[in-house]
Amino acid sequence: MNVQEIRKQFPILHQQVNNHPLVYLDNAATSQKPVQVIEALNRYYREYNSNVHRGVHTLGTLATDGYEGAREKVRKFINAKSVQEIIFVRGTTTALNTVAASYGRANVGEGDEIVITPMEHHSNIIPWQQLAKATGATLKYIPLQEDGTISLEDVEKTVTPKTKIVAVMYVSNVLGTINPVKEIAAIAHKNGAVMVVDGAQSTPHMKIDVQDLDCDFYAFSGHKMCAPTGIGVLYGKKELLEKMEPVEFGGEMIDFVDLYDSTWKELPWKFEGGTPIIAGAIGLGAAIDFLEEVGLDKIAEHEHKLVQYAMEQMKEIEGITVYGPKERTGLVTFNIKDVHPHDVATVLDAEGIAVRAGHHCAQPLMKWLNVSATARASFYLYNTEEEVDIFVKGLIKTKEYFGNVLF
Ligand code: PLP
Repeated sequence: MNVQEIRKQFPILHQQVNNHPLVYLDNAATSQKPVQVIEALNRYYREYNSNVHRGVHTLGTLATDGYEGAREKVRKFINAKSVQEIIFVRGTTTALNTVAASYGRANVGEGDEIVITPMEHHSNIIPWQQLAKATGATLKYIPLQEDGTISLEDVEKTVTPKTKIVAVMYVSNVLGTINPVKEIAAIAHKNGAVMVVDGAQSTPHMKIDVQDLDCDFYAFSGHKMCAPTGIGVLYGKKELLEKMEPVEFGGEMIDFVDLYDSTWKELPWKFEGGTPIIAGAIGLGAAIDFLEEVGLDKIAEHEHKLVQYAMEQMKEIEGITVYGPKERTGLVTFNIKDVHPHDVATVLDAEGIAVRAGHHCAQPLMKWLNVSATARASFYLYNTEEEVDIFVKGLIKTKEYFGNVLF
């Protein structure tokens, strides 16, 4: 499929916004959904909506097959060893909180260390802050280098035998930095710690192999990779998950319930209390089929071209600061001198261009960048070079609008 064929699969892209063709560049916040996913949800609700793992009736069996079939698709997609290692959750935030609440509470104590970085999304900061406060552990940060990358030397210096958990994002949602998580995992393991990877911004854009990364936990959200909102995945190594306690208790996750005690189902269901996210998982399965049909390597290459093309042009516009390293995934975070990013986003919106403005759920990183907010354009498989041109023209217009042509 070429980009025009890909675009045809996304009905939402073919509309006017403020009398201009929509240019959707807010993919790091959430991606659009192809007809394949919309149809999968439609079919589920029209033809076989039912609860799973319960009834012996035909619809129940179809729904269970759809739900568990999606789990196998996820397993293959990230190359996990077993479907028992794939837990369906609401999204990255829930996945990371589950690790902190279950593994963290059982394995982290006073005097221990938890290591993260200042570039993390709030979802990969606050669960660890809370864990540190509750246990008396110390939260430590791997410092960032000037260009917004991490050096392995600094990782070696920060992670010690006292470290119990290292939690790092694979790709930054602000800088586009691709962190060396495989190498960081090796350093974590050498010191006896587990490695948690926030895969929210990597999984939609590049081939993931959790066995090759050798991470212990890996979290991601479906909605950033063409699937519906409300579905995500926590991957965990089976030997760790088996020893961990669930964090949600109720129906679906139990084996046997007595008046004063209960036992849990085996993996992965012991972590999926209550009626699961059936439609979401089926939608995620359809999204995976679609992304695999296009090819993750092709998607990565396409986005790389778009972002490099955008940055080349932005470099030529005086007064624009671009944050982050040259080698990055398909997003560009920037500021225009003397224009608030919300104003940038508002002027672009009037041109039909959707970008994000704000702190991007990364307030410590904003502090490190010495800004209160930034604007961000983030690309996906359906964006085109023509859209980059429209975006760049929009930036020039924004500058003119605010009277900054003579920087
Ligand atoms: N981590 C990163 C790097 C993100 O970009 C996001 C979402 O923007 C999250 C975590 C949280 O994802 P969710 O809101 O889907 O739980």
